[in-house]
Amino acid sequence: MTPSTAPESAPESAPEPEPEVQPSPYVARLPIGVRLPTPEMAYWEIFPIEGDLQVKLLEPPVLPEPARNGDPGGDECWTCGDPDKDVIWRDEHWQVRQYVKPTGLPAVVTLFPNAHHDLEDLPDDLAAEFGLMIRRVARAVQSLDGIARVHVNRWGDGSAHLHVWFLPRPLGMRQMRGACLAIWDDLLPPMPADEWLDNLRRIATALAADGGTAFEPSAPPPAEPDAASG
Ligand SMILES: [Zn+2]
Repeated sequence: MTPSTAPESAPESAPEPEPEVQPSPYVARLPIGVRLPTPEMAYWEIFPIEGDLQVKLLEPPVLPEPARNGDPGGDECWTCGDPDKDVIWRDEHWQVRQYVKPTGLPAVVTLFPNAHHDLEDLPDDLAAEFGLMIRRVARAVQSLDGIARVHVNRWGDGSAHLHVWFLPRPLGMRQMRGACLAIWDDLLPPMPADEWLDNLRRIATALAADGGTAFEPSAPPPAEPDAASG
């Protein structure tokens, strides 16, 4: 038997202490609080920023990590809680959503399963469809004018509901090739809203040609009033 160290008089309602989560050996040997030297990538031809840069100080780990949106113990899932928001195409198992407003690339869209799953708990039947859906959405985005290639990204640190990003690289813009395309999407001037909406319609229509239903994309919210111009 393991002897208990808890006082027998402790009230039953006393909260259980959070179990302490120790950093992994990997994290424990990271140079926390140290500023690492500027990496070689800062001088890559495809790196979008130049000038004097410095790497941020390496911050201590946060353990246990906070729940993501849609995780047990986290806030209600954004995707399940607003099932039609920004959906431009849907079928029985999958949906494609637009971003809320234009960004720098011609049209960035996101693929979600309709049901609340992350990649690791995606049932076998949906996982088998997932590859076909990635190809299908990539082809739909590639069908826009002047697209060299469509890059596919799955991150997932913000929401527990699986979502995959599709980023089209404009044909000829070789400076934007590779992983920095996601940064260029934020740096480039936003697409004109009417062209962006037309691109989203074309993606939804291309998807619906093979099944499912296309929906009219949502216009961006009105721009914030410019205080300087009154
Ligand atoms: Zn969800």
